[in-house]
Amino acid sequence: MNKKSIIYVPYYAVDTYQNCQQKWKYIFRDNMKTEAEPSLFEHMVFSDTLSECFLCKIRYGQDPDIDMVMKTMQKYLKDREDNLQVNWSRYNRVESYDRIEIALNIYMEKVFEQVEPVEINPPWAIKIGDYKVGGRVNLKLANGVYLNYSIGSKATAQSSLDKDEKVTAIAAGLGVPFRFVKHVSVLKSKPDVDHKFTTRTWEQVNLWIQKTKKVLKQMETGITYPNIGSWLCDEDKCPFWETCRFDLENEL
Ligand code: SF4
Repeated sequence: MNKKSIIYVPYYAVDTYQNCQQKWKYIFRDNMKTEAEPSLFEHMVFSDTLSECFLCKIRYGQDPDIDMVMKTMQKYLKDREDNLQVNWSRYNRVESYDRIEIALNIYMEKVFEQVEPVEINPPWAIKIGDYKVGGRVNLKLANGVYLNYSIGSKATAQSSLDKDEKVTAIAAGLGVPFRFVKHVSVLKSKPDVDHKFTTRTWEQVNLWIQKTKKVLKQMETGITYPNIGSWLCDEDKCPFWETCRFDLENEL
C-alpha cells in the first residue's frame, strides 16, 4: 500500500500566499531570487545577535557584556552581507548598521537581564491534511511563555498582536494554553523596548486550522492571481514589481 508522504510547508509560504498568490508563485514555484530589503537585513542581524547572546546565557548562566554583544553583531553583519544580496540603492548602509547597534544597546540595557530563556529557536509544526505547516519561535522561557523579538520603528498595537495570524499559527503548533510575548526594540527619537503579551484559545486555533486547510487546497490548484490592491503591491515594497508588471502586460 502506498503511504502518502506529508509535505512540509513553511508558515512563511502560507503567509505569502495569503498576501499575494503571484508573489508566492515567484518565490516558491519559480524559485526566483531577489535582493533583500535593508529592513529584513536589520531584523536578521538583530535576531542572530540576540539568539547567540541568549544561548550564552543558557550555556554559561551569565549575560554577555556590551563589548561581546557588539563583536557578535559585527560577525553577523558580515555573515548576512556575504549571504544576502541587500538592496542598498535607497538606503544608507552605515545608518542601517547604526540602527541595529542602537536596537541591541537598548534591548541589552532594558530587557535582556530579566529574560530567562530555556530554549533558543524552538520549532513548531502542525499537521493539516497531507501537509505539515511549521516554523520557529525565537525563545521559550523558563515560565513556559514563548517570545519573539524584533526591531521596528513603532510599537505593536495590542489589537494587532491579538489578531496576528502568525501568533495563532505558533499556538496551533505548540498547543493551548499558549502565552506569548513580543518585544520590539523601537527606534524613534527616544529608543525603547515595547513589550506586549497575548494568548490564544482553542477556538481561535481551530478557526485558523480550518482557514489554512482551505489555503493549502487552493495552493494545490497551482492557479495564482496577483493581489494588485494590496498595500504591499508597491514598487518599493514588492521585489517582483518589474517582473510582475511584465507578466501582467503580457498575460503570463
Ligand atoms: S507586484 Fe503586486 S501583484 Fe505582483 S507579485 Fe508583487 S504584490 Fe503581487
